Amino acid sequence: MSAAKWEENVRKCVPYTAGEQPNKPGMIKLNTNECPYPPAPGVARAAAGMDPDALRLYPNAEGKPLVDVLAAYYGVKPEQVFVGVGSDDVLSMAFMTFFNGGKPILFPDVTYSFYDVWADLYRIPYRTCPLDEDFRIRAEDYRQPNGGVIFPNPNAPTGVLEPLEKVEEIIRANQDVVVIVDEAYVDFGGVSALPLIQKYDNLLVVQTFSKSRAMAGLRIGFCMGNEKLIRFLNDVKFSYNSYTMNLPSQILGVEAVKDDAYFKATTAKIIKTRERVKKELGELGFTFPDSKANFLFVSHRTVPAKELFQALREADIYVRYWEKPRIDNSLRITIGTDKQMDALIAFLRQYLSR
Ligand code: PMP
Repeated sequence: MSAAKWEENVRKCVPYTAGEQPNKPGMIKLNTNECPYPPAPGVARAAAGMDPDALRLYPNAEGKPLVDVLAAYYGVKPEQVFVGVGSDDVLSMAFMTFFNGGKPILFPDVTYSFYDVWADLYRIPYRTCPLDEDFRIRAEDYRQPNGGVIFPNPNAPTGVLEPLEKVEEIIRANQDVVVIVDEAYVDFGGVSALPLIQKYDNLLVVQTFSKSRAMAGLRIGFCMGNEKLIRFLNDVKFSYNSYTMNLPSQILGVEAVKDDAYFKATTAKIIKTRERVKKELGELGFTFPDSKANFLFVSHRTVPAKELFQALREADIYVRYWEKPRIDNSLRITIGTDKQMDALIAFLRQYLSR
């Protein structure tokens, strides 16, 4: 069928492909880096105590309760915090706000696969900088003229953490554009660039409640940066959709931040499981870059990743696989509970010994 005339006026995009969200009883879901443990107990209490009558009213448009609690927790001013509907919303808003220079923005060739989608959506030219053979960022690649820089630290889907010195080297070399550090996975043993926002007015640090705070379903993300950056972000947000953060997210998000002991215990538990799983997968013949995230990016010495992906899927163990250059022989495996990881390892041990 030929295209209708009106289709010429459509903004054409190739959407981001999220990990699948099957919902089978007994399945082991290690494919979207969610937290295997529940959110802080205060979240359940606040959810149970929520007054439906409050839903008649619009929520605070700036997500003020959440902004305030985050500012206090991270030791910054509320004017340095912006919240959104997951860090995807924050990142999308940041692309729209800060990457209007006309020159290509820079990000790694192997990275979060939403960056090129947003760039295309907003008609932002981009150039990818190849990671080295150990999946490390080469700081010198970020010395070319550009319209902005973005990278996750730890990187996704590799889990590789770059030292703060390298992050600062990249920021220092790019003070005429906005540099975004996407710290979705920083709470699993990473080092945050947050202190650098006081030194560099062009640095935006983005984080999320989806992984370490076990609230992917509520969609809460945030970023911190110089007050001027946050003002510009709010100008765009209020030109786009005033009420992004719904009331339950604001109320329940505050509860998650308040329980720091639970947050630290949960992330420590995941880190402990990750370190043990590294050892066991190594013994089964897997290799992987050292991960500081809540996932491992593994390849097997002899069995192709695609085959393992399919075999795992048939056993109702879901992991993530991309048929893309450089990463088509790797699986990204989220760190689940100890019991889930035991089941994964038992399956792999048996499959590999056939
Ligand atoms: N950044 C990175 C690097 C991610 O892997 C993800 C998760 N898909 C996100 C941002 C977005 O997460 P969310 O929108 O749930 O905060």
